[in-house]
Amino acid sequence: MSKITSIISGLSLKEKADLVSGKDFWFTAQVSGLDRMMVSDGPSGLRKQADASNALGLNKSVVAVNFPSSSLTAASFDRALLQELGRNLGQAAKAERVGILLGPGINLKRSPLAGRNFEYFSEDPYLTGELASSYVQGVQESGVGVSLKRFAANNREDQRFTASSNIDQRSLHELYLSAFEKAVKMARPATIMCSYNAINGTLNSQNQRLLTQILREEWGFKGLVMSDWGAVSDHVAALKAGLDLEMPGKGNESTSEIIEAVNKGQLDEKVLERAASRVIQMVEKWQPENKTVISYDLEKQHRFARQLAGESIVLLKNEQQLLPLKSNQSLAVIGQLAEKPRYQGSGSAHVNAFNTTTPLKVVQDILPKTAYQAGYQIDSDQIDQQAEQAAVDLAKQADQVVVFSGFPSSYESEGFDKKTISLPDNQNHLIERLAAVNKKIIVVLENGSALEMPWVGQVEAIVETYLAGEAVGEATWDILFGRVNPSGKLAESFPIKLADNPTYLTFNADRKNENYHEGLFVGYRYYDKKKQEVLFPFGHGLSYTTFEYRKLELLKSDHEVTVSFEIKNTGSVAGKETAQIYLSNQTSEIEKPLKELKGFAKVSLNPGQTKQVEIVLDKRSFSWYNPETDKWQVDNGSYQIQLAASSRDIRLTKNLLIDWSENKVQALSPDSYLSDILKEQAFKAPLKESGLDKLLQQLAGDENNQAILTNMPLRALMMMGVSNHQIQQFIKLANQS
Ligand code: BGC
Repeated sequence: MSKITSIISGLSLKEKADLVSGKDFWFTAQVSGLDRMMVSDGPSGLRKQADASNALGLNKSVVAVNFPSSSLTAASFDRALLQELGRNLGQAAKAERVGILLGPGINLKRSPLAGRNFEYFSEDPYLTGELASSYVQGVQESGVGVSLKRFAANNREDQRFTASSNIDQRSLHELYLSAFEKAVKMARPATIMCSYNAINGTLNSQNQRLLTQILREEWGFKGLVMSDWGAVSDHVAALKAGLDLEMPGKGNESTSEIIEAVNKGQLDEKVLERAASRVIQMVEKWQPENKTVISYDLEKQHRFARQLAGESIVLLKNEQQLLPLKSNQSLAVIGQLAEKPRYQGSGSAHVNAFNTTTPLKVVQDILPKTAYQAGYQIDSDQIDQQAEQAAVDLAKQADQVVVFSGFPSSYESEGFDKKTISLPDNQNHLIERLAAVNKKIIVVLENGSALEMPWVGQVEAIVETYLAGEAVGEATWDILFGRVNPSGKLAESFPIKLADNPTYLTFNADRKNENYHEGLFVGYRYYDKKKQEVLFPFGHGLSYTTFEYRKLELLKSDHEVTVSFEIKNTGSVAGKETAQIYLSNQTSEIEKPLKELKGFAKVSLNPGQTKQVEIVLDKRSFSWYNPETDKWQVDNGSYQIQLAASSRDIRLTKNLLIDWSENKVQALSPDSYLSDILKEQAFKAPLKESGLDKLLQQLAGDENNQAILTNMPLRALMMMGVSNHQIQQFIKLANQS
């Protein structure tokens, strides 16, 4: 008998029922022979609430280093850094005796209005899955488990407890489940947190297809499924569907409803034992040791937070090489966000930061004479005439002006969606006035997700720092002064205006249903196909140096394609470049985007240096999810590999033929189209034998007729005088061939 089975066999029904609900906000239940275990948020820093408990970060948690939000770390495109982030988080959790860290959140950024976008990585499932896997590996290497969240299609906050994400099966699998699948298979997370919402009408906490069939049977997940906090509506139904742990638990009510269901025969005790065993298994595996006091170096973690932000910040625009700042020119700093930076998101991701460095303090430590004006109040949209005028006057006198701008925290948080992606009016107004008096305006942005920039053409430089974590001050000036060469690339598209986004017509339109009408066309998949101009494309980010891409080569084996190429640093400073591989499927006759990200590599290069890079694309990269067969399918034919510096900056391309699928000739029926029949070699003989080839030649006549004819199914030939007998004879012969 295994240890877990033996523990289970010694438990009473009440103890088993106790185990499958949290004891309180942060602990699992304690039953005989098994200690309680603590779980804590969160994705960008530990949020261990020592005393009173709540899920939204309203109470202070222990001091911990606040790392950049995932919206920024994703822009690093750096797997190794994400793994290191995971190690740092794991170390903090371990020292605080937390067994499971509630993160990372890996939902896709479907709409720029979604309130929690700052907690998520990207609009792209491949990038999300890769980075999430590295993060999870890092945390778990440190001996702390993760809860990969929030499973799945949790793409809006309004009515998040009840709204149904209505999605077609292809988009669900290819986009919304794909990142989870990769992280489950590659990094084996200890637990998964199921989200509040429903998918196609079934609450995720009660969704057997999602929690059991897909997660366990198809992907082989062996860990525990916990609910998001308060996501369980019917606990018995949830247990049956495959949920193991209800969080945070409803006290005695949780226990008695389970006992009653077992006693009344509504819940098989075996199902309860299955869930309870998984709780025990989780506690046994991830319970932190009790005795030794573990301390960790918060200063060192702060330095890593600074490095991580520096490697992720995105230089969006840099005309006339305005950046890095010139030390022989005077500098003015404007914008209250320099003094009161917005560096982390609100809600359960909120951390009691160890050491927040503000951009203003940091620059004034380096250059004590740096002049500053607030220009606006961050907690208001109203123009403050006096503050704005003082800022304009300052800008007139300075050689270079750095303006800090961004969303107030009241704009974006867990728990509600945004109403707009435009900056407060007072900030837009200020930037336009500053640009009118000084050409050298550098806008530094602090925001959780994509925003509109009506002044984009009026300023020369724009730096996207997202929510940069507690080292925001140091990291920002590292970039502005050129101590760090920017290498971040956008992990989401920035539309010119909100209305350009494909979800604009329907996002949050209906309290009960979120209809994913755009299907597969999310982010760049939509903007590309629609030939829609964007403000800044997915994958975009500048550097203080330049890179050249050369010698793209493809090597195909029987199950993968190796893409190799060279990158050269053609500028005069060291830098890092993220090369992106997009795949364009030119074969499958299905709805599809023009291209999709299937690989990337971040390469560090000294001036003049060249490196050879290899990226392997597996079979799955070439596949699409066929809802008719419930299988991933590769179609034989032509594909284009695009080597790119961003989704709109394709440097080199090469085509290749894939022939991995067994060429099964489809069985014919009266509904089969002539166009498909005529291109198939195997049908040539039956066409001849049945005499149909001659008839077709007669009917085809001119070119126009030919086009009409080939667009007809076999059965339509009857109205043109071909007999049913002849058609049936051909079908019979063809299907035997
Ligand atoms: C959030 C989760 C979080 C949990 C615990 C919920 O409100 O959706 O992401 O982990 O609270 O704080």
